[in-house]
Amino acid sequence: MRDVLLLNADFAPVGIVQWERAVGLLLDRRVRVVETYPGAEIHSPSVSLDWPAVVHLVRYARHRTRPSFTRRNVFARDANRCQYCGDKPGISVLTLDHVVPRAHAVNGTVRLASGRVVPVHGWDNVVASCRSCNFSKAARTPSQAGMTLRTIPKAPGPQDVIRFALRRMEAPDPWQPFLPEPALS
Ligand SMILES: [Zn+2]
Repeated sequence: MRDVLLLNADFAPVGIVQWERAVGLLLDRRVRVVETYPGAEIHSPSVSLDWPAVVHLVRYARHRTRPSFTRRNVFARDANRCQYCGDKPGISVLTLDHVVPRAHAVNGTVRLASGRVVPVHGWDNVVASCRSCNFSKAARTPSQAGMTLRTIPKAPGPQDVIRFALRRMEAPDPWQPFLPEPALS
């Protein structure tokens, strides 16, 4: 089952949708086909058409949603790299690390080194970490453990929805001309 890259009216990518959704949008005339998958066709009782690979919205849509706070999205934000040593061990063995440990939380919040008070289990306090860094850091802050974060973790914005989705997958060839940057693996 091949997914479809959804472009905005200005051809900036806004999402990845399943083919059923893309066909629904096509039948409603809300999108137009930009590229198809060579040699692939969709046949259903109601339609028969070349399999769309890239479609664009007829009307410009504002970005509304932000990436949800999930394990895979934290990994995507951090480019699947351990935020302490920079290793890229693969998402199946990557772990989530609470920068300020959960044991330090008061009413579900922690105080960062910067002085900001943030949710213990949220974008500002959770990073991707390899097992060995997570293990050696243990229930300590980075400074207590003598470790340094490579980047300051932040909540992503609406424009990151598509970037994260692309980092979670290998983008098909017909999408390449429309992608903002080479899709990261
Ligand atoms: Zn590491």
